[in-house]
Order: sequence, then structure tokens, then C-alpha cells
Amino acid sequence: MTTIFHKIIQREIPADIVFEDDHIIAFRDIAPQAPVHVLFVPKQDFATLNDVPADAPEIVGRLAIAAARYAKERGFAEDGYRIVMNCNAHGGQTVFQIHLHLLAGAQLGRFGTPAA
Ligand code: AMP
Repeated sequence: MTTIFHKIIQREIPADIVFEDDHIIAFRDIAPQAPVHVLFVPKQDFATLNDVPADAPEIVGRLAIAAARYAKERGFAEDGYRIVMNCNAHGGQTVFQIHLHLLAGAQLGRFGTPAA
């Protein structure tokens, strides 16, 4: 399935890209939920976390490691940050190409409560 993130990877639509290598791309979220809000997206096509094969943990691992490296490079790793992957309806997933949210830059509130 082609999503808006595939179009960003293919440079069909613009994004504020902060990191890219052979495996992943990272760009700023268009509707930030924290002072720092970056999305880390694999270039391989997986709609949800449920679709990542059990024998391919590197798909997800690369996202988390890249987020931690970005936090260290930008100087907020010690203050801290949150990484989040939403899956399907109850998780609030809206773009069906897996991605990891990196949220930082302020004290973050609690999370995980049912939507009002
Ligand atoms: P999720 O709800 O976990 O699927 O997250 C999708 C995220 O993608 C949301 O936080 C959106 O704000 C973000 N988003 C949607 N379109 C774009 C875009 N064109 N550029 C950057 N971020 C986007």
C-alpha cells in the first residue's frame, strides 16, 4: 500500500528530513505533539507492527537506535524522551506504514488512558 510516508521516501511530497540511511528515514511530524516530534520510518513496507516478521527484529531495532542516536546528537538524551509506536485502531494509528514517534523537549504527561 502506498501511504504518505512512502511518498516522502520517494520524494514525491516534501518533508523536513532530519536523518536518512539505506534502511530508514526520519522527518519532523507535521503536527508536533511535543517541542521535538520526529518520525522514524523503515524503507521496507510494513503496514503495522503486527506485520513485522518475528525473524526480523532489526526492522524495529533500527528505529529505536536511530532515535536514541538522534537524541544524543541533539543533546536531549540525558533529559530524556519518549518513543511510541501506535498499532491499529485502539493504538490510534493513522498512517499504515510502521513508524516510531520520538517525543522530547519538555516534561511529557502521562499516557495510555482511554480516549474521552
Ligand atoms: P500515527 O497516528 O501513529 O499513525 O502517526 C502518524 C503521524 O504522521 C501523525 O503524528 C501525523 O501528524 C503525521 N503526519 C501525517 N502526515 C504527515 C506528513 N506529510 N509529514 C509529516 N508528518 C505527517
